[in-house]
Amino acid sequence: MIGTLNESVLLCAGGKYQPSQIMAKLYFYYSAMNAGKTTRLLQSSFNYKERGMDTLLYTFKFDNRFGDAKVASRIGISAKAFTFDNELDVFDDVSMRLQKRVACVLFDEAQFLTKKQVLDLCRIVDELNIPVLTYGLRTDFLGEPFEGSQYLLLLADELIEVKTICRCGRKAIMNAKFDANKKIIRTGEQIDIGGNEKYVALCRKHYFEGNTGEDL
Ligand SMILES: [Zn+2]
Repeated sequence: MIGTLNESVLLCAGGKYQPSQIMAKLYFYYSAMNAGKTTRLLQSSFNYKERGMDTLLYTFKFDNRFGDAKVASRIGISAKAFTFDNELDVFDDVSMRLQKRVACVLFDEAQFLTKKQVLDLCRIVDELNIPVLTYGLRTDFLGEPFEGSQYLLLLADELIEVKTICRCGRKAIMNAKFDANKKIIRTGEQIDIGGNEKYVALCRKHYFEGNTGEDL
């Protein structure tokens, strides 16, 4: 029965989790922007460390909003992290950094992983029996899937939606990009790092209407 539970939830509940006794799984925590994914990542990592187990944290190299090699949440907590770009051999890099006490590997900004890197994460779970927790956006501002999220949705053992709401109160599942006049932007490169000054999480109805929330 333990194998059907999320290890991080089990740890939160004070369960007697023994990593060697259960089959590891690949988890994908997905959401729109500003739903608190990074906060959950840091909480899960903390839960392991509190029990004397180490974790490996990774975040995307392109993201320099909070300085290099750091995972930072908007509520003010942060932790050091290794970085990945699209060239990194994730399986080799994680294998190289594994020590006896490492009980879990966590990836923030997992939408930026490539298909090959998601397959590497599957190998870390299946061949090394290390749980991998990934956190990312499901869709880009164009309403298209990110490569990493697409394959995580296909291949992860557990899909967990981290929910947030549109200003109208409906669940926000889309990420809208807007200009200085709050007009929605529907063209451009998929990757354009930014925060509240550039993006807003909307429900599907208001995303397709192009209403960025000013009139709600
Ligand atoms: Zn809405």
